[in-house]
Amino acid sequence: MQTADTLKEYRKELKQALDQEFQRQALDNFARAYPTGRTKAFAGRDVSELVADIGRRKDWAVQHMDELFAQFKAQAEAAGVHVHLAATDREANEIIARIARKSKCTNIVKSKSMTAEETLLNHALEENGLTVTETDLGEWIIQLRNEGPSHMVMPAIHLSRDEVSRLFTEVTGREQGTDIESLVKVARRELRQRFVDADMGISGANFAIAESGTLGLVTNEGNGRLVTTLPRVHVALLGLDKLLPSLDDALTILQGLPRNATGQAITSYVTWITGAVECAPGPEGRKEIHVVFLDNGRRALAQDPIFSQALRCVRCGACANVCPIYRLVGGHRYGHIYIGAIGLILTYFFHGLKADANLVQNCLNCQACKDVCVAGIDLPRLIKEVQVLIQSQGKKPLINTAAAHVLTHRRLFHTMLRAGKLGQKPVQKGPFLRHLPHFLLAEEYDFKALPALAPKAFRDQWPKLDTAVSHPKYKVGLFTGCLQDFVYPEQLVQAVEFLTRHGVEVSFARDQGCCGLPLLMLGEKEAAAQVARHNIHAVDPNEVDFILTLCASCGSHLQENYPLLLDQESGLRVKARQFGDKIIDFSSFVHTYLRPAKAMFQNTGVRTAYHAPCHLCRGMGVTHGPRELLQQAGLEYVSTPEEETCCGLGGTYSLKFPEVSGEIVNTKLHRLEQEGVRILATDCPGCIMQLRGTAARRQGKLEVLHTVEALTRQMR
Ligand code: SF4
Ligand code: SF4
Repeated sequence: MQTADTLKEYRKELKQALDQEFQRQALDNFARAYPTGRTKAFAGRDVSELVADIGRRKDWAVQHMDELFAQFKAQAEAAGVHVHLAATDREANEIIARIARKSKCTNIVKSKSMTAEETLLNHALEENGLTVTETDLGEWIIQLRNEGPSHMVMPAIHLSRDEVSRLFTEVTGREQGTDIESLVKVARRELRQRFVDADMGISGANFAIAESGTLGLVTNEGNGRLVTTLPRVHVALLGLDKLLPSLDDALTILQGLPRNATGQAITSYVTWITGAVECAPGPEGRKEIHVVFLDNGRRALAQDPIFSQALRCVRCGACANVCPIYRLVGGHRYGHIYIGAIGLILTYFFHGLKADANLVQNCLNCQACKDVCVAGIDLPRLIKEVQVLIQSQGKKPLINTAAAHVLTHRRLFHTMLRAGKLGQKPVQKGPFLRHLPHFLLAEEYDFKALPALAPKAFRDQWPKLDTAVSHPKYKVGLFTGCLQDFVYPEQLVQAVEFLTRHGVEVSFARDQGCCGLPLLMLGEKEAAAQVARHNIHAVDPNEVDFILTLCASCGSHLQENYPLLLDQESGLRVKARQFGDKIIDFSSFVHTYLRPAKAMFQNTGVRTAYHAPCHLCRGMGVTHGPRELLQQAGLEYVSTPEEETCCGLGGTYSLKFPEVSGEIVNTKLHRLEQEGVRILATDCPGCIMQLRGTAARRQGKLEVLHTVEALTRQMR
């Protein structure tokens, strides 16, 4: 559980997590295997249709939460079940402790439940003198270690079999081996008697079906069934968000949940419980069943136009499985109770601002979580929105005030950049700075060399460029972004030459400024909207066929976020959409519309890999085009694993969390070097800055190029 008070303390905890070798290896192995398992499990299915269907059903249920609760209560009570509603976590714990007292229960066996983790139920019951034994293997292990889960589905994934063996030796007082089979047997032996002795079983539930008052439990271990059937009293604790109208809704979710969680078509057990069945030691020979629904902010959240979609979550854990940060630091540092991307959001609503203030900043906005979410939640957007909420309630960091002021004043910003060019002279060495600026002198920032500002910005070269084209095939407006304009202008110059050579008329509106993504990443939504307004006035979408960019981050921000940022402005809403619709990235434009002939390029066969920028492959949905272009241009394109894994830049992320950023990029480059790759091509100057700067520090043979540079170099 992440509880650090300050960002500095949190970073210290992250560093410790990075040093946990076994955890890193285990999570890395799982992260590398997960995509294949998931793809296989979903083979032959229309995944996007299923995701949309689950999203629609959950949205409906969330909007009708109170009605569904009333219906469930009526149905379940008619079948002999007691239904309770707890407004807070504390109230839920009190209700359950009261049930135990009233029914004279002292020994409790429990199966896995994230809702019980949310309310810290075990602690509350133990304070009431009750004995609680977790019976899911992973949960039992972490209970014995006095820890919380490090993954929502695999709670003990961070532990090695040696650690578990030592733990079991200590608990049983007998030397235990390290093979998994015998460790499982130890758990089985130790827990069997607890089931027999228990008078109360506590479970969670994945579904509460209103039409029949039925609970649905999706598990991989038999303990769930023992917990809910053996003891005379069964208490199920679940959030109001688990309510669904019908069995059909639950079965639809069931098509996605296990496939997305662990790559299984179905889990070992799916249990449906309707009503109080016969039970000899129970009151009047029937089982005593209580269902405790937890609100804890869910009803308020359901009313929120932006955040209600967080309640679609079916707790599959996939957003952690694919997160490059979770993969390095694990759930104890990447969650409070709930883990991964959804944890960064729910922590604020369920556990408050303080618990989330540091945690929510730990996101690269890489969109990998959004891409796999089986409920279609726009997780990165909600994470940003939580950041905005938190920032609006505290003292604004100086960097935000400064960035908002500078980036919304284009002339000031560009004057500063031009001045910076003169100021950097004493520390410049070729294309890099010899050492880092003073505020970045700490060792953890030294994993990459920073680029120097170019001698002449693209906007200052533009008037002298030869852009004349007679009978143009297309008219494109260039959106440059700051990084290419002032640091890598040669990429833009090469693009202009390439395009004009192919009969494309290129225009460049000099009044355009920063796209505003860094502001949004800092949570400065209003300043980001101000920049968006400025840019859609500067670059008129009606005057060109396409607005072309060589920066994937700018591209996806202009395409996706401008319409969102200006959606409430009646005068600009339409234009912002038109602007977004005209955005295209350089590689897609060349691949789709220009289709350069092979004969234009020399065949050098240099071993070349591709780094797919997050904002290109997930943000703009561009996948095969850039790879095909590299092949077309006479390079030997080699497909490498994890081409689509983030480079670790994440805008200002690498400044806030350099330790994590450095690990991500070094791991990526190390693997490419092992594959004997000589050129790494990509389509985002931000990725180039991160990858090229780190490659320079590594002093290997790998060269990082923008796709336009790779194409230009190959031209005959
Ligand atoms: S956007 Fe990327 S870094 Fe952020 S939570 Fe999602 S997967 Fe993790
Ligand atoms: S947010 Fe989506 S991916 Fe993450 S646990 Fe919930 S349903 Fe699964």
